[in-house]
Formats: sequence, C-alpha cells, structure tokens
Amino acid sequence: MVTALITHADGLSHLTPTGHAEQVARLTAINDALADNQFADLSRLDAAVGTKAQVSLAHPARYYDKIAASVPNAGTVALDPDTYMSPGSLNAALRGVGGICQAVDLVVSGEAKNAFLAMRPPGHHAEKETAMGFCLFGTAAIGAKYALDHHDISRVAIVDFDVHHGNGTQDLVWDDDRIFFASTHQMPLYPGTGYAHETGAHGNVMNIPLNEGAAGDALINALNNQILPALTAHKPDLLIISAGFDAHKADPLAGLNFETETFAQATKLLCDFANEACDGRVVSTLEGGYDLHALARSVAAHVATLMEYS
Ligand SMILES: [Zn+2]
Repeated sequence: MVTALITHADGLSHLTPTGHAEQVARLTAINDALADNQFADLSRLDAAVGTKAQVSLAHPARYYDKIAASVPNAGTVALDPDTYMSPGSLNAALRGVGGICQAVDLVVSGEAKNAFLAMRPPGHHAEKETAMGFCLFGTAAIGAKYALDHHDISRVAIVDFDVHHGNGTQDLVWDDDRIFFASTHQMPLYPGTGYAHETGAHGNVMNIPLNEGAAGDALINALNNQILPALTAHKPDLLIISAGFDAHKADPLAGLNFETETFAQATKLLCDFANEACDGRVVSTLEGGYDLHALARSVAAHVATLMEYS
C-alpha cells in the first residue's frame, strides 16, 4: 500500500502580516522537503474543498457563516491578536477540512495505509465558536467526526504532540465518548489550558503538560507510559495525529527541546500501536512548527516514518 500526501496550492493563499510566524513559507519549506527523491513513492493528491456540512460536524453552522462573512476583500483582517484572514483564507481552511475527510476516506477504505495532510492554516486551537491561535476550523476533530458519521467506525483516537495544548480539539470532542483525545504540550504556555485534571465529559481527554526545557524522551515516555495504554483501552478503529513540530528545540515560539529524530520515534510508536489496534490506519494533519528548517526536516522524518509502515 501507499502513504498519501494530501495538499493544495491554496494553502499558499492564506496570507498573514509580514513577520507572522504562521507564514506561507512554512508550506513552501514542507513542499521543498517532500520533493526529495526519497518521497517519490508518495501518492500525491490535491485536497478537495471542504463543505459547510463537513465543518458543521464539529462546529455550529452559524460559526461557519461567521468565518465566511469575515473574509476581507483585500489585505488581512485580525480575528484576534494572533489569528488573521486574507481573501484566500476561507478556501485554504476549507481545503484542510476537505483534505482530512479525503484522508479518512482513503485510509478507512484501504486505498492508502496512512496519510499526511500538509495544509495551513492549522486547526487544533479552533474552538466551537472561536477562531484562535492561527486556526479557523478544527481539522482533526472534523476528521474524527467525519469518520464516525461516514464509515463503519465506532471509535477514533486523536494524539496531539504540538507544543501548544490542542484546546480547540479538546472543546470539539469533550462530550463525545467515541473520541479519545490525548495532548502533550509545554505548560505554562499559550493557550493556558491543558491541565491534567481536564479529562473530558466521559474521561475521554488526557492532558500531559511538559515542563519548559523537556527533551524528546518526555514525549516518548508520555506515549509509552500514559497515552498508548489509554489508547489501547479505547480500542480505536482509526488514529488521527495532530502533528505539530513546534516542540523542536529550534522553534522560536516555545521552549521544549525535541530533536528532529524525536518526531520519527513518536511516529513509529503511534504506527506500531495502529498496526496492533486498527490495521495501521493513521491520518496525520499538520499543526504548528515555526522554524522553517526544523519544520521541513521534522515533517520529512514524520512522513518517511509513515512510509515505512505503508
Ligand atoms: Zn503549536
């Protein structure tokens, strides 16, 4: 089988002000890294445009309307001090939504063993009715709910190793006992949530705060000792990864010390788990990562590991 790479040039049309960390060059750097011959066997697909119905799997329909009405005619508009929209932003975000649903279809049908969605803006900070943290729509949670609604899937797990807490994903899945959400993140750090005592309405949320300066073994230990045992108990039919690479030691927005290799090791543990639990079904979606060189190398390590399992 194959690893699918789903992306779209519309991801380059979501513009943020000069100097903003979540910039077009992130996707360009990833595209350049994945153009290497090492990735020739990827099945490359254009992300479809997502629909209001897909967004509404996780957000109220009126929230979609609010975001659609916020698109500026020119320049950029700030939804909050961090989160901007340009004329191309709605379409870019909708390609992320369509892309995650496409990735779920491919992996659940067995057309692809696993898939990586390389789109921006990211998604894991978007709450039910609040765009924040560079994010407009909760891509990972939408993918999970789409899988549950459209396929013979009873349970989904989402693992988020972005350096920031996935508060949006947590908000979108809090009441849904079909979805288990686990997040590792630096604390204290934006957005300020993600305490270990935040466990979801059904015990379906696991937060593992990491201290500033923690190295990659903190993530590997969290996976081995806490997250993977909890995932084993949840028995997911599909694993979704919120793949943020801003816990890398070179990242300018945070203070963890992961190596590039940490992301390969974590991916390997998650794919080994998925092989045991759910026929290796893994859908991974890009979240953060703001040092362009570290981001490109970390994505390459992540995708190369996904390919080892396909
Ligand atoms: Zn982040």
